Amino acid sequence: YYDSNTVLYLNGQFIKSAETTTDLYGQSLHYGYAVFEGIRAYNTHNGTRIFKAKEHFDRLQRSAELMHIPFPFDKDNLIRQTYKLLKKNNLKDAYIRPLVYCGQNMTLEAATESSIMICAWEWGAYLGNKLVKVGISSYQRPNPKSTHVEAKASGHYINSILATTEAKKNGFDEALLLDMHNNIAEAPGANIFIEKNGKLYTPPLGSILAGITRATVIKLCKTLDIECIEKQLTVDDVKAADSAFFCGTAAEIIGIASVDETVFPAVWTETLGATIQRTYKALVLEKQNYEVII
Ligand code: PMP
Repeated sequence: YYDSNTVLYLNGQFIKSAETTTDLYGQSLHYGYAVFEGIRAYNTHNGTRIFKAKEHFDRLQRSAELMHIPFPFDKDNLIRQTYKLLKKNNLKDAYIRPLVYCGQNMTLEAATESSIMICAWEWGAYLGNKLVKVGISSYQRPNPKSTHVEAKASGHYINSILATTEAKKNGFDEALLLDMHNNIAEAPGANIFIEKNGKLYTPPLGSILAGITRATVIKLCKTLDIECIEKQLTVDDVKAADSAFFCGTAAEIIGIASVDETVFPAVWTETLGATIQRTYKALVLEKQNYEVII
């Protein structure tokens, strides 16, 4: 992720990653009490452009608020500093990771101070470019009555690590987690859509992260005249689907080959997911501004 020349942004300054230190007495390290974002910048013909920068920094602030972590930062300035960070590291295509964290406090009370760091690196498609084999996880997503699942909070990702580890151990590429009612929720780091009889379906908000890519896909469906329905889905609904895909900033749009032993019947290139994948790529690369059409 970094070498001796990599620079990161920390509380208003740019410093070499190798020269930073970690506060070992802090709530973020001990309790996972931090919030973060995952953002991508693309090398477009208009130059390097951070896709949905405002939406990501808005969600970062909202996550901090839900977790009672102070967020005394100017979001427009953070976006400007992120562009500078990319320049300083010579990055044109990049994955960007802002983290708001808390140190110097070991209590279980809400933090009164926080720090922000932003780092970036080159990161290919998180789940690769081949269709993924998915296993239903034995882990459920966090219960919305135990935490604010719509916050992108560091501690929530323990659940993601457990599910990913289990899936890989069982020979799958990725996990698919259910919610507390055994409805389909999401992957450890991506949202899911299924296709059935020419329509797309995706789980509603409630037990999932409100993915920015998910919102983009729903908008693209309107532009492309694809019917997209937000509705609770069961494991049986997914296994009876014609095709399915994951979407997320890191994963982008990636088709699913199978869920457990069930292989989807549709040929990926002929699915709505493949159309969305092509359109999403064109959108992030600013080859066509589909959202203007909406
Ligand atoms: N769900 C989870 C649990 C995630 O971590 C992510 C990645 N942020 C997503 C969904 C997709 O969200 P986005 O499209 O905003 O990257």
